[in-house]
Amino acid sequence: MSNITELFGSNVFNDAVMKERLPKATYKSIKKTIDEGLALDPNVAEVVANVMKEWAIEKGATHYTHWFQPMTGITAEKHDSFISPTSDGKVIMEFSGKELIKGEPDASSFPSGGLRATFEARGYTAWDCTSPAFYKEGILYIPTAFCSYTGEALDSKTPLLRSMQALSKQAVRILKLFGNTTSSMVITTVGPEQEYFLVDKKLYDQRKDLIYTGRTLFGAPAPKGQELEDQYFGSLKERIQTFMKEFNEECWKLGVAAKTQHNEVAPAQHEIAPIFSTTNIATDHNQIVMDTLKKVALRHGLVCLLHEKPFAGVNGSGKHNNWSMSTNDGMNLLEPGKTPHENVQFLVFLCAIIKAVDEYAELLRCSAANPGNDHRLGANEAPPAIISIFLGDQLTDILHQITNGGLKSSKQGGELTIGVTTLPALPKDTTDRNRTSPFAFTGNKFEFRMVASSASIARPNYTLNTIVAEILSQFADKLEKASDFNTEVQKIMKEIVTNHSRIIFNGNNYSEEWLVEAEKRGLPNIKSTVEASKALIDEKNVRIFEKHGVFTRAELESRFEIALENYIKVVNIEAQTMLDMAKRDIIPAVINYTSDLADSINTIKATGISADTSVQAELLSKTSGLLAAFSKGIVTLEASLEKADSMHGSTYDHAYFFRYDTFMKMGDLRKIADEMETITGSDYWPMPVYGDLLFRV
Ligand code: ADP
Ligand code: MG
Repeated sequence: MSNITELFGSNVFNDAVMKERLPKATYKSIKKTIDEGLALDPNVAEVVANVMKEWAIEKGATHYTHWFQPMTGITAEKHDSFISPTSDGKVIMEFSGKELIKGEPDASSFPSGGLRATFEARGYTAWDCTSPAFYKEGILYIPTAFCSYTGEALDSKTPLLRSMQALSKQAVRILKLFGNTTSSMVITTVGPEQEYFLVDKKLYDQRKDLIYTGRTLFGAPAPKGQELEDQYFGSLKERIQTFMKEFNEECWKLGVAAKTQHNEVAPAQHEIAPIFSTTNIATDHNQIVMDTLKKVALRHGLVCLLHEKPFAGVNGSGKHNNWSMSTNDGMNLLEPGKTPHENVQFLVFLCAIIKAVDEYAELLRCSAANPGNDHRLGANEAPPAIISIFLGDQLTDILHQITNGGLKSSKQGGELTIGVTTLPALPKDTTDRNRTSPFAFTGNKFEFRMVASSASIARPNYTLNTIVAEILSQFADKLEKASDFNTEVQKIMKEIVTNHSRIIFNGNNYSEEWLVEAEKRGLPNIKSTVEASKALIDEKNVRIFEKHGVFTRAELESRFEIALENYIKVVNIEAQTMLDMAKRDIIPAVINYTSDLADSINTIKATGISADTSVQAELLSKTSGLLAAFSKGIVTLEASLEKADSMHGSTYDHAYFFRYDTFMKMGDLRKIADEMETITGSDYWPMPVYGDLLFRV
């Protein structure tokens, strides 16, 4: 199929398919559930199930799966065939409404953080009809939410759906106050830009660290990095282009609107962005994107690395979570219009976001935390771990006006002339871009740039939705009671500008000065996943999650536990992998090299000719010295792991030890190996080096 319009969504049980195939009444009913958030009619499920099955079988399906997102960050699926035996020893293809609505995977092998004792292994999956089912490789995929026997969320979709509902409720209250009578729902929209690396599979297979941990645990910098800035937006290599073409087609078939693709800053790094959709679908689609990237890469002899920091010293990968809110009748609530100073409704929503981000910065930081992202956030790389908001000149100026005598004007961008008469004059944006801000206003949406490249985007989005819902509810409480609406709005806006301007920073977030300035402003700077996770059980945060029905206290405590356990496991695997590589690959390789150096000296000496062997001698002495230090480093790291193993404290203390003892010792060990790599002959080094991995795709 070469026609893209035909290809797009061809494997999705989407609105068009439902409209065409479902009885009219059934279609209307399911549409109401999807569009208006009404309860699902069980009789409808029976009809939909049958039609869905017929559609999938025509595509070639033999099985269906309840596709869900446990707290591992990735998706899970268990395939059941449609076959059902008949009394005459044959089979028919069956799929009931009950099977569509509810699944019962054994939940005991998915993380629950103590929510579900192992004897209560029962878990349920529930059909999420707001995200369309799709067909892939013989299987009908049904997006579902996953919960325990007692209804606690065991996944990332459930809280996301709950948070969307919460935000809608509060945003509609505000809209009503502005006289809006037509919008009945507010939907959050998301367009996630996904960064990733591609490396050659043959080289990848020779790196245990990439295989077991997704990142390089050793590796000296290549002679060339990203300093020439010749990779960003550079023309695509043919092999990459072929990969992207096939990737796009796979995505399009599944209704994922993959739109933009380009080379990223680091060598071998790329980015793919889809057209935005509702948060729920965008989150499911991002899972499809990550899965498809990996699968299609393999077909091209490539491996896709989604890790946040596969290589030290070159940029890592993130996900830019472009987020906005719009009404169900299509109005983007973050669209400022040409004269934002007159757009009070926009300013109210903007103020709510400013307050939310300032008051709940720790929670937002936590939503982007994972062990991989620790190598970016707060490490010597961008973006920093400090949350701040970029608003740009126009909006910042308007906020100033709020506190300085009222709203009078909006700065305009004007026209840009390039100085060549044949080139067109371009309308200028009202503000320049700021690529260093972790939370930037980009015209009609906010771009949350801290998000981890390998993680589900559910977490940052249910966090954003919840904190904004909370502030909107505070505003609505005040405004609904106010005797004069306009005066109260002015009062609220003034309060926000006065108390929360500290979160706004339009400058360079990567500069040293900002770290100092942010500290002065009292903005939190949380270094690692371990400390960041505490936000999940902070009373202030528990209160809003409970208030808006997104999480119970027990659910939050379990997520806190899971985050820490995951941290411990990840660092432990990395340390074990390091030790394996150090002892079984690097030491033997370096010994070979030193033996050859010694042999060379002896051989030359044996000839009786007086030749200079000082180069060999110097190298031998230097290498042997490093080797001894390396061996000591191994012992130190092993001791750290032993100590961790014998610890009895809380999970938090355990994780903290891994972060500030084990992890630090891994860094020390790496340093020595990387130095040895730079002086050991290429033929001796036991694995492909950075230059091979980054430039030989
Ligand atoms: P850039 O990051 O270069 O400014 P775009 O402005 O084209 O790129 O958008 C980046 C991403 O933001 C895309 O995935 C796009 O679909 C998404 N996006 C655009 N508008 C919205 C919106 N209202 N809500 C959520 N995402 C949006
Ligand atoms: Mg962007």
